[in-house]
Amino acid sequence: MSKYLVFGHQNPDTDAIGSAIAFSYYLERKGHESEAVALGEPSAETAFALNHFSLDSPRVVETVANEVDRVALVDHNEPQQSVADLAEVTVDYVVDHHRINGFNTANPLFYRAEPIGSTCSVIYKMFAEQNIDIPQSIAGIMLSALISDTLLLKSPTTTAEDKDIAEALAKIANVDLQEYGLEMLKASADISQQTDEELVNADAKSFSLNGHDVRIGQVNVIGFDEILARKEGLLSVMEEEVQNNEFNLFLLVITDILENDSVGLVAGINRPIVTTAFGNEVIDSQIALPGIVSRKKQVVPPLTDVYDAL
Ligand code: MN
Ligand code: MN
Repeated sequence: MSKYLVFGHQNPDTDAIGSAIAFSYYLERKGHESEAVALGEPSAETAFALNHFSLDSPRVVETVANEVDRVALVDHNEPQQSVADLAEVTVDYVVDHHRINGFNTANPLFYRAEPIGSTCSVIYKMFAEQNIDIPQSIAGIMLSALISDTLLLKSPTTTAEDKDIAEALAKIANVDLQEYGLEMLKASADISQQTDEELVNADAKSFSLNGHDVRIGQVNVIGFDEILARKEGLLSVMEEEVQNNEFNLFLLVITDILENDSVGLVAGINRPIVTTAFGNEVIDSQIALPGIVSRKKQVVPPLTDVYDAL
C-alpha cells in the first residue's frame, strides 16, 4: 500500500501542524504508512507546543507529487491554501472545520468537516469513535491546536464539545488547561523577535471572494501599543504584497488575546469594502474591530457578504 503524506494549509498554524501529526497517527493505526509534513516552518507558538511535548517538527515540503500519489488534507480544503501541485495527486481524505470552497475531486473520498473549534477536535472524535488510544504527546499537540484556534476556548468558534474535548486532552497530556493554555498563547504573542514581513505573512491566507483576491492575515498580541508602533513598516510590507500579487484587499487582523478585541490594518484598492463590512471608518489605513477574534467566523463572512452584493 502506498504511503500518505498528511498536511495542513500553507503558513501553518498550530492546528495545521497538530492535526497533520494527529491524523497521520490515525492513518497509521488504521494500517497505512503515513507521514505528517508541513507547508512551512512552525510559528513560535507551534514550536513552543512541539517542544513542550517533545515532538519533532514535521518536515517542510514544497511539493508532494514527487514523493507520493495519495495525500490527506487537514485543516483546509481550498486549493489556493494548499500545496502547489495538489492537482497532481489524489486526495483520499479531508478532515477540516472551514468553509468548503473551490475543492473538487475526480473520485469519491473520505471527507469529514464539522463546524467546531479546531480540526484536532474533529480528529479527537474520530479517535473516540474508533476506540484508538491517544499517546500523551499527540494529546498535547492536539490540545495546543484547540487552544490556539479558540484562543483558550473564548473564540465564538468554540462549541460545548470543544470544552469537553479540551478537558479530556489536558488529562491525557497531563497539563493544567488554563495554565498551559496561557503560557502557550503568550509564546504566540511575543512579537519582539519577528520582522514586519514575518508578522504580515506568517498567518496570512488567500481567499477568492466573488472573484476578488483577498488576503487576510492575523497576529496575536498582548496590548496594541508595541505592534502599532510598527504600523508604517507593516503597511509598507502589505502594500508590497498587494502590488506583487494583485490582491484587491489585504487585511491584517491584530488580535489582543487577553482582551479579545482586534484592530485591522488595511491595504489595497478595496479598502472601502472593509468599512461596509465592519461598520467602522478606516482612518489612516486602520480600523477598530471590537470583539472580533475569529477570521473564519467574524471576518470572512461579513467580507463575503459585501463582495457578494457587488
Ligand atoms: Mn489553521
Ligand atoms: Mn483550524
